Amino acid sequence: MAGLLDIPAGLGPVRGRYAPSPTGALHVGNARTALLAWLQIRALGGAFVMRIEDLDRARNVKGGVEALLADLKWMGLDWDEGPESGPPGHVAATEGPCAPYEQSRREAIYEAALARLAEKGRVFECFCSRAEIAAAASAPHGPQDDGPRYPGTCLRLDAAGLAPRRASGRKAALRFCAAPGPLTFEDGLHGKVTIDVAETVGDFVVRRADGIHAYQLAVAVDDALMGITHVLRGDDLLGSTPRQLQILEALGLPAPRYFHVPLMVGADGQRLSKRKGDINLGWLREHGVKPQRLVAELARTCGLTDAKEIEPRELVAGFDVSKIARAPAGFDPARLSS
Ligand code: GLU
Repeated sequence: MAGLLDIPAGLGPVRGRYAPSPTGALHVGNARTALLAWLQIRALGGAFVMRIEDLDRARNVKGGVEALLADLKWMGLDWDEGPESGPPGHVAATEGPCAPYEQSRREAIYEAALARLAEKGRVFECFCSRAEIAAAASAPHGPQDDGPRYPGTCLRLDAAGLAPRRASGRKAALRFCAAPGPLTFEDGLHGKVTIDVAETVGDFVVRRADGIHAYQLAVAVDDALMGITHVLRGDDLLGSTPRQLQILEALGLPAPRYFHVPLMVGADGQRLSKRKGDINLGWLREHGVKPQRLVAELARTCGLTDAKEIEPRELVAGFDVSKIARAPAGFDPARLSS
């Protein structure tokens, strides 16, 4: 019988993904990362997976999934597996060998992963009520999202310390025991990257006290079980990668290759953010910007084209991640109307 942590047989040798969270309208920086992830996989002739990272229910917006799928289609992107956008208010059933593709429907899988980590002694109960436990369901987009290093408070609890806390009825979060020492991995754009998880964030949350699974656990498990070989995403997640690699190693699951691309910044030099309501695709559509014009501008900021208008598929031939400009790209909306 197939286990919850088995990788489906027969998946192709090159698989990539885009993994948006339906927490607000896609902004131009999200669109740029999606375009690059899509181009990498299309150029390699692989399969592109759309995965919806909707674990942080309190932050999901109504209609967010439909809107982001429609925006990506408008840009001219497509995907081989994942949910299909249907008429307004409806997202058609998820299709494909690794379904479901919505994290909110994969909880049994994450529980199986936690059970395996528990068997190996790699998780422990944490009764601390710290802000970072609440934040764990979302991807950390900067050091402020990770909070201070966890000092190991509950790791040191023995049976006598645990008993009253369990009896109090207060629910525990689960933390992953970070492996000590620096971890080095090869990033497709940054080269060798070395980060010491135990020193920087310490033991990190893999399930919140309210039962919500953490981003770090879900993303690592899903990338492995969906047979993802290439993870291309924003530079802000570089620091999360060693956490995901440690989880994969502890679970005995394969690790993908990682490619962290520079982020787009606004006129203030700050990274774009859904929370700040930075220029989003819906706004551009309403203001009559053609998708080919947006794609050309995004590709221009990566150093990929000088064209004024272009379809994503016209950028596939000869695309190579090493050609992506390394500096953070500024976005100037005025260029779209010129
Ligand atoms: N869902 C995450 C986000 O919205 C991206 C996760 C990833 O690409 O690993 O930022």
